[in-house]
Amino acid sequence: MFGASYVLGTAHLKGSGKVEDDDLNNFRKYGFSDSKVRWEAKGYWFEPVKDPEGKKIKIIPRFFFEENQQIAKPHCIVTISDGDFRSEMGLDEAKFEKSTFQEDVIIDKKGIFEDNKQFIWYTMAHELGHATGLDDEYIEPAEMDESKKWKDPILPALPQWYAGMPYDLDVNSMMKANRAPRLRHLWIQCRWLNESPKVQALTGNTVFILRHEGEQIGDQGKKKHSFYYYLPANNANFYKPVYEEKDFKNGPHGKLDLFLYRLGQDEITKKEYVELIKNQSDFDGILVVRVNIIWLFRNYDGIGSDQWGKDNSAKIARMRNFQKSIHRALNKRFWLEKRSSDKKNISKIYLYFLPHHQFENNKNGTTGCEVPMSFFIVTVRADKPVFIIKVPPTETFSGDRLTIGKGTGNIAILRYILGMSYKDSDNNFITTISAKDIEFIKTWVEKKTGSQYELHSKR
Ligand SMILES: [Zn+2]
Repeated sequence: MFGASYVLGTAHLKGSGKVEDDDLNNFRKYGFSDSKVRWEAKGYWFEPVKDPEGKKIKIIPRFFFEENQQIAKPHCIVTISDGDFRSEMGLDEAKFEKSTFQEDVIIDKKGIFEDNKQFIWYTMAHELGHATGLDDEYIEPAEMDESKKWKDPILPALPQWYAGMPYDLDVNSMMKANRAPRLRHLWIQCRWLNESPKVQALTGNTVFILRHEGEQIGDQGKKKHSFYYYLPANNANFYKPVYEEKDFKNGPHGKLDLFLYRLGQDEITKKEYVELIKNQSDFDGILVVRVNIIWLFRNYDGIGSDQWGKDNSAKIARMRNFQKSIHRALNKRFWLEKRSSDKKNISKIYLYFLPHHQFENNKNGTTGCEVPMSFFIVTVRADKPVFIIKVPPTETFSGDRLTIGKGTGNIAILRYILGMSYKDSDNNFITTISAKDIEFIKTWVEKKTGSQYELHSKR
């Protein structure tokens, strides 16, 4: 058994605004070491995937964050401020709010409960997570009045940092909600063990996996878990879908984006940690189904006083009401299970329906790596009558445009956008979506993977 430690980067701390020496000293004295404690709290380790000689090699990662004022060229300059901004960590520069460091971050104090420990919110460990190469896992909200942006459910903006943001559903994750580490968060270091020529020379090309043994309380009491996290070389980047298709066409008017991610075994896969679907476990894939919508709002006949009210509340409530309906009707409900016995493909896939939005002309400032190619412009009129009108393309705009009434059923709108019929034989809007309606998604997965799947639904 041997230990490994690595220096993740050195930082200069400097204050600005109303930041006292005491604030800086808090970061120096406790910030780095508290973050270390947090990142090591799960007790993950690396071990060889095969151990034919029974050497029982175990590599224990140790985090080491430091400030070093002496070296000429620090990796990153961190500015501590009381400013009115969100903390962020880049490669050369970072901004931490004074409150990024908290006095009361000690594990086992009133936080969420995992593996017999309690994890309280701690932003500094999240920010230093970025220093280890991790991206954010929470969804960037659509641009709108600051006071409305972060309300539930969040309306995902166009674009995001990476396609579909699947890990947003891992609510207790350090990179989503600043709480508990995940096995995938140390996968970068595992890849270094597996892919760095110097390490390979030392270990005789040993292939390592990430390991965790945890114990979590579920509906049947305490349950022990053994995780073996590993991603195959061709899917090694967990921020990249294994298969994707943008602007996928379905039926007469359907247009959507599909992103299939492979999950290694980690806390997402066990229902005691993250329950994707009631009583279902062992998911090794997430398929994000995304539709992209730009919302516009109009008065009934374009004249008279503003029928949407003075501020944006009614408009944003309308969008949020749509998102809520989609969550309620479609999420925590559908999954695909592989029928064929081939080992190479994902065997159990959670279907995650996540419309993304733009509110009027409020473009999101995120310069993300992934930009949608197609979207619907949905104009909502303030009048009562419910209807869906397809607006023909114009010279200046070739995208799909719809006009709907304020009270048009959300499921009918989504059915239209996904390419399903949205009215029944009596000319009424359809208010449900069944497994049969989304068979085309299963067909897409089968075509991409070459394996056969079964579509299941709960409820
Ligand atoms: Zn972040």
